[in-house]
Amino acid sequence: MVRHQSILLDNFATARLGTSTFQPDPDDPNTHIFYVSLESAFEQFRWTSEATRGADEIFKINAGFLDTFSPNALADRFEEEYFLGIHVALFVAINEFAMFCFAQQEFFPDLGDATKESSPKPWNEQLPGIWLLDNTLKGGGVDYKHSKHLIPTDPQRYISSQLLAFLMTRFVWLHELAHCFNSHVDLVQNLDIALRLHELPQELSLAGKSKDQARSLTDEQKQILRCLELDADESAFFASCAVQMRNMENIEGIRELEPDVALRLTVFASYAMVWLFDAFQNYAKSALGDTHPAPSLRLQNLLQTAQKRLFAESDDFEQLHGRALQEFNSIKKAIPGMFEFGTLREMARSDELATELEELEPKRAEVATMLRPYEFSVKR
Ligand SMILES: [Zn+2]
Repeated sequence: MVRHQSILLDNFATARLGTSTFQPDPDDPNTHIFYVSLESAFEQFRWTSEATRGADEIFKINAGFLDTFSPNALADRFEEEYFLGIHVALFVAINEFAMFCFAQQEFFPDLGDATKESSPKPWNEQLPGIWLLDNTLKGGGVDYKHSKHLIPTDPQRYISSQLLAFLMTRFVWLHELAHCFNSHVDLVQNLDIALRLHELPQELSLAGKSKDQARSLTDEQKQILRCLELDADESAFFASCAVQMRNMENIEGIRELEPDVALRLTVFASYAMVWLFDAFQNYAKSALGDTHPAPSLRLQNLLQTAQKRLFAESDDFEQLHGRALQEFNSIKKAIPGMFEFGTLREMARSDELATELEELEPKRAEVATMLRPYEFSVKR
């Protein structure tokens, strides 16, 4: 069962999180894109309503945007139902990053007239999206106006930037869905590791408030969380690409793209989202920062997912995947801290990282076994 903007979600936001839901209006040009992203996600979650476990438990999911001004996303289980939420600020940050990408002349030059773009540098020398985090940590709110100078000049590229933002946000929706559907939330709650799963340390939402509620986790618990993040990334990446390869796109603008362009944009969006989370994480340098896998490890995990599961799905995936990763080179020119395609390629061959992921394999297998009793299944 997938619930739209339900009373349950409002209740969850208020009672459990102390915040409120954000209700996008399809007719309001300012919030229309929130609406499109959410509707698209609802439709893609629909198959889960057939899932059950045990004698009679049905998988019930509630999803929506939360009116919280720190970039984050979360998955939770509350009163027998699953909840996933994306903070408004994260969606704003994603859109800003996507606009910044398409304002770069060399980024996806086959979309629109790229020669019109001015290749701006990041605002205030802060990474796109980071200014927002910085601003909220200092007690400020969202200022939509600031991102003005990052907006792509060419109208088609402006639209393309929204499509990229939808794909990046889809990666987040699917990542959070995996935390629920793959029973990660049940596991962390039952092992008393965490109340819920957050993409960024929760204290970031509590800027200015006491941070001493933060719990210290054992190495064992941190490792379990790491495995769950890698699993959620893998599910989200595979599902995002499958939407394109199996012709299941439900956002009109993306459906109208050439299939190979849509797939390249999807691959880029997935890597970019993982990178953006890491940029936030590094910025925050929180005490709990190491509960999420190291950046290179998460990116390496996506590369392995591509190689192990996606290259076999279609003959030209490997080539499109390579081209998508090369798009990072133009972004790297504007954002010095970003990895290059060359770095990614080296990572793919890096014994050290491969070993790190390999060493985590037994733990991931162990965690998979721990998750099995909670498993939902869809009867055919
Ligand atoms: Zn996660």
